[in-house]
Amino acid sequence: MRDQIHHLYVHIPFCAAKCNYCAFYSEPAQNERVERFLAALKREIEKVAARLAPQTIFFGGGTPSILTESQFERLLTHLHACIPTLRSQTLNPEFEWTVEMNPATVSPEKARLLRSFGVNRASLGVQSFDDDLLAGLGRVHTVAMAHESIATLREAGFDNLNLDFIFAIPGQTPAQWEQTLRRAITIEPQHLSTYELTYEDDTPLFRQLEAGGVARLDEATATAMYDRMLELTAEAGFRQYEISNIARPGRECRHNLNAWRGGDYVGVGPSACGYVDGWRYRNVPDIDTYIARIERGESPTDHAERLSPRARAGELAAFALRMNEGIGAAVFERQTGFRLDRLWPDALRDLTGQKLIEWDGLRLRLTPRGRLVADSVAEAFIIVDKTETCSHHPAYAD
Ligand code: SF4
Repeated sequence: MRDQIHHLYVHIPFCAAKCNYCAFYSEPAQNERVERFLAALKREIEKVAARLAPQTIFFGGGTPSILTESQFERLLTHLHACIPTLRSQTLNPEFEWTVEMNPATVSPEKARLLRSFGVNRASLGVQSFDDDLLAGLGRVHTVAMAHESIATLREAGFDNLNLDFIFAIPGQTPAQWEQTLRRAITIEPQHLSTYELTYEDDTPLFRQLEAGGVARLDEATATAMYDRMLELTAEAGFRQYEISNIARPGRECRHNLNAWRGGDYVGVGPSACGYVDGWRYRNVPDIDTYIARIERGESPTDHAERLSPRARAGELAAFALRMNEGIGAAVFERQTGFRLDRLWPDALRDLTGQKLIEWDGLRLRLTPRGRLVADSVAEAFIIVDKTETCSHHPAYAD
């Protein structure tokens, strides 16, 4: 019998409307399509259930909270039926089940229903406490709706709350960002995620930028906003544990920590990724193809690859650099069979010299300055090597 996998990601690919900066795979929710999608998703869950003993579940998207109460009820009943140990697992204080939510789609009934099935963490896309900036981003909700949702979630018993924010929005001033942060801190969430706005190809925002309709904030201002976020949240007792993530001690997102530490996880739904038995895979990023494949009894996996041991070691180091803890030399050697100082003697010396990493022979991590250019530092650890590929779903039990 193959090992049990303790982490499950479920992708719900629908949103109320497309935000103008978004490059994630999602579509407007139409009831008939959502129902066909849910039928296919349930079949994918059945196929992977035998491998699952979840300690964390993460419903991401898209906007998972766009599902109606009836749709959630049927989906979560199915999940519990497929994984009979899930009910007892939800009683474990270490168990974490997150659902991403948009303030426009939170209701008291839905919040109570999710709690009754064991969902215990809500991740709410607030993005800004300024209505004009929200409108500019194409968000479908207002500041008042965000406040109402937070109150609703708390009343339903959610005591583990993440709030998502975006900074360096066109037209946003450092003072506005600070005001949003101060308001967020006053709400006393357990976790904050803050992302610098990026201009992804093929988005309306990118086209506006190209046409001169909006101006990108300069790098110095964006960096100052990020630094201010770290200062204010640290003063309020939060601890940064990843480039974009800050939490009260003990309230770090366990699901994401597992992925960044190179742990296995199963992903289901269109465009979902997973990492199972050394295979990294991605499901087809198209709802119709996903449904059609599952209805034909085929794997929805678009691509699965198994990296060479050296390439996998490089990937692990690059992931670990995202976290403030970095990675210990002994842990790295145990996980990969390689020594950090033998694989990258030049990069370790050069990046230490540039004060972008800290490396004392025992632990590797980014410096605060390195965190500002994390992607380019991580590139120095990527090893391109031979990979095996297959189209089978690595988590399917048969
Ligand atoms: S709600 Fe999230 S996933 Fe949906 S369009 Fe907006 S940013 Fe993208």
